[in-house]
Amino acid sequence: MSTRNSHYDVVIAGARCAGAATAMLLARQGARVLLLDRSRYGTDTLSTHALMRGGVQQLHRWGLLPRVAAAGTPAIRSTTFHLPGAVSTVEIKPRHGVEALYAPRRTVLDAILVDAARSAGAEVRFGTSVTGLRRDNTGRVTGITGRAGPARLEIGADLVVGADGRRSAVARYAGARAAHVAPASSGVIYRYFRDDAADGYNWYFTPGSAAGVIPTNDGLACVFAATSAERLRRELDGGAEAGMRRILARAAPGLADRLDHHDVAGPPRVFPGLTGYLRDAGGPGWALVGDAGYFKDPITAHGITDALRDAEILARVVTTWGPDAVRRYQAERDGLSLRLFRVTGRIAAFTWTGDDIAGHLLELKDAMAEELAAMTDGRWGEPGRRLELASA
Ligand SMILES: Cc1cc2nc3c(=O)[nH]c(=O)nc-3n(C[C@H](O)[C@H](O)[C@H](O)COP(=O)(O)OP(=O)(O)OC[C@H]3O[C@@H](n4cnc5c(N)ncnc54)[C@H](O)[C@@H]3O)c2cc1C
Repeated sequence: MSTRNSHYDVVIAGARCAGAATAMLLARQGARVLLLDRSRYGTDTLSTHALMRGGVQQLHRWGLLPRVAAAGTPAIRSTTFHLPGAVSTVEIKPRHGVEALYAPRRTVLDAILVDAARSAGAEVRFGTSVTGLRRDNTGRVTGITGRAGPARLEIGADLVVGADGRRSAVARYAGARAAHVAPASSGVIYRYFRDDAADGYNWYFTPGSAAGVIPTNDGLACVFAATSAERLRRELDGGAEAGMRRILARAAPGLADRLDHHDVAGPPRVFPGLTGYLRDAGGPGWALVGDAGYFKDPITAHGITDALRDAEILARVVTTWGPDAVRRYQAERDGLSLRLFRVTGRIAAFTWTGDDIAGHLLELKDAMAEELAAMTDGRWGEPGRRLELASA
């Protein structure tokens, strides 16, 4: 069976933080949006979920932060850095209407964004895979082919957005090139513990390994242990549980001991590592948001924040910059990403000393401050009314 009946302003592949946020913003601006995902609504994904201030700021601006809090997501009021020989705590100061950080489970955050996209008028279909791109005779992307169960779909669009994550099919079909590639990657093991007393982000760095505690929904704390991808492979020899215990014992011995007194909730989950990249942000008739276009190592816990940022940039430029939109999006995204991307690569390499890491974290802090300023200084202007997507 094949359906060839529809045309939308925008078709988006991938309905998690990048795709659902983009769909919501474009639909709020009056675009006719179709949001597709091959998986199911409200499911989990391989990711810890600490939001940095920029990500929380976006949720606040979009009016979604009360829903995150109402889902029982604990407010994070401090971040503590445990470095060799030094522990420092930074209190989260109320600014721009944001009083605390949050780390909602992806089952919570992604569902809130999908609901908001639907409420804004986007059509949402789960269980639907994008299997190809349609093009006109100039090579411009004009829609997608897809599959929903036995049904084959052909859907036209003025703009196709790939928000389909690290293994993006849209990026592959569009021929997006990686202009920047990270020098190294980390590997991560994480697990949930019952610990409703965990009350702030805690990041631990010691040469060769790192760890963190992220308080989240349902009285759980997400605890991760990280090292270089190469070393993680060796640590996994005796199984994920033993490997995690060993990395934690080096990175955060006190934490490792404390966790012995908490019940675990579910098995450890392993991310073996993936080299970071910054791909082309788009081309005629297509664009990439979130990990589809820009993946940086999870060691700096910044992917969701950047996905929400890029959803906003893309949604603004396509309605204000007409034919120049994709070029403008690329410039904004890359301008705000490169500093973060590079320092993340240095931290993920795990070749730093105890002295180096303090410098890397300061650089990260400055890069995050620059990004936050861009999110709050109105440089992208108010949402426009011009929908000239056919030439974007
Ligand atoms: C171990 C780990 C820990 C992390 N920790 C953090 C953290 O603490 N904080 C943080 O901010 N970031 C973190 N990140 C990064 C964060 O998970 C990503 O940046 C974020 O998930 C990107 O969201 P996305 O919407 O771009 O893609 P994804 O979340 O990957 O969603 C992509 C969606 O596309 C769908 N899809 C894929 N192919 C198709 C297709 N062909 N057709 C239709 N649908 C398709 C998938 O089903 C999926 O639902 C972590 C990542 C990892 C791996």
